[in-house]
Amino acid sequence: MSLTALQAIESDHLIPNYARQPVEFVRGEGARLWDADGVEHLDFLSGISVLNVGHCHPAVVAAVREQVGRLTHTTNLFYTEPAMRLAQRLAASSLGGKVMFVNSGTEANEAALKLVRKAKPRGEIVVLRGGFHGRTYGSLSATPQESKQAPFAPLVPGFVAVEPTAAAVTAAVHDGTAAVLLETIQGESGVHPLDDELLLAARAACDRVGAALVFDEIQTGMGRTGTLWSYQQTPVVPDALTSAKGLGGGLPIGALVTGPRLADVFQPGDHGSTFAGGPLVAAAANAAFDVLDDPALLARVRDLGELLRERLEGLDGVANVRGRGLMVGFDVADAPALATRLLREQRLVVNATGPGTIRLLPPLVVGAEEVEEALARVAAAL
Ligand code: PLP
Repeated sequence: MSLTALQAIESDHLIPNYARQPVEFVRGEGARLWDADGVEHLDFLSGISVLNVGHCHPAVVAAVREQVGRLTHTTNLFYTEPAMRLAQRLAASSLGGKVMFVNSGTEANEAALKLVRKAKPRGEIVVLRGGFHGRTYGSLSATPQESKQAPFAPLVPGFVAVEPTAAAVTAAVHDGTAAVLLETIQGESGVHPLDDELLLAARAACDRVGAALVFDEIQTGMGRTGTLWSYQQTPVVPDALTSAKGLGGGLPIGALVTGPRLADVFQPGDHGSTFAGGPLVAAAANAAFDVLDDPALLARVRDLGELLRERLEGLDGVANVRGRGLMVGFDVADAPALATRLLREQRLVVNATGPGTIRLLPPLVVGAEEVEEALARVAAAL
């Protein structure tokens, strides 16, 4: 089917909530994508940090092939080994508590919001301006962006949005606060790392009133910043974290991971999801985990991230290069125009998070040569 035919179907039959680029991808491998005309593209977006293991990683493909012919779904009324193994690994690699599976990032945050409210009934939830936590009602209510929230009012009550500063968080937290929810690096608003002072203030404020500190690691987790979880490069340990995106190696799965204090807040009947943690997605996630929980790979992510940022700083027309590991943002005069030029003329897939910011989220298996290639394409498009 031609691209024009696909666009006609979109126009007639798809609710127009996405602005798609006029490209049909048909195959992927590592950091490469091929379109329907057989043209190769370099992918520095990874499906927005989903393909951390790269496209069609052989270990993920093998695990899915093996599992899909054996057992795909049972519900959580029964045991399956892939989900149990994954929960054990997620908890052991991070907060040492317990795990609840869901199907996406926004659902992971919904679970976290319900959990902290149950832990501290009717408590307020403090969130940060510039944060993004998802599109369903709870997560949207935690996403203080006028353009995203306003058409859907009234939202869920009990959220308080403050500027991302230590002083503002400290002032906002009181005895009636159930939680502070934040991203250690605000991704959707343009890759803005929060400073340690803010994270330490949030930790102290939560401890002062018995509130939960929850880190949304949906974009920053699964090795993206050069450690398995981004909080591991900060002086702060949260009480719970949420994961999705890169967790499933390309398949949809999310998770809420708690520390010991919140591990038994939910009891049977409090929350659930038919598909969550099914054996197929959990098998894919276990295979992705094997790839990403590797000190050598994580060290390479840190090194390549440094190289990428250093070299971007040397390019004319690029300002405010920032990020950690292979989560990188930089400012340019007209980011949407540059992203379009990169895609159409340079065959480099990136994303503009706003009018002035380009975000790079390459697969974590990217090679140094591919980083050089991407830099050359950015330089040419500038
Ligand atoms: N939280 C963060 C930090 C995200 O970056 C995203 C997605 O971009 C979400 C939550 C929502 O995840 P999903 O699109 O899987 O619902």
